[in-house]
Amino acid sequence: MAGIFIDVEVTDEVRGDPELAEKLQDACPVDIFAASQAGVELVEENLDECILCGLCVDAAPPGGVRVVKLYDEGAALER
Ligand code: SF4
Repeated sequence: MAGIFIDVEVTDEVRGDPELAEKLQDACPVDIFAASQAGVELVEENLDECILCGLCVDAAPPGGVRVVKLYDEGAALER
C-alpha cells in the first residue's frame, strides 16, 4: 500500500494491537491511521497528506512504524 509520495509501513505486531491503533489514530493529524478492534488500518487515500511530523513514529515502539519518502529514493523518516 503506497501513496505517490509517501508510504507508511507498520509491523505485524503494531498492526494487530488495538491499544496502539488508538494511539496512532489520535497522533496522526491527517488521519492516516484508522483504529478498529482488530488493530490498525492504513487509510490509503490520505497517505499523500502526510506532513512528516513523526508523531506516529514516536507513538509506536522503536521500528514499529516507518514513514517512507518515496520521492527521496525510499528514505525513511528519522526521529
Ligand atoms: S508522520 Fe505525521 S502525518 Fe505522517 S503518518 Fe505519521 S503522524 Fe501522520
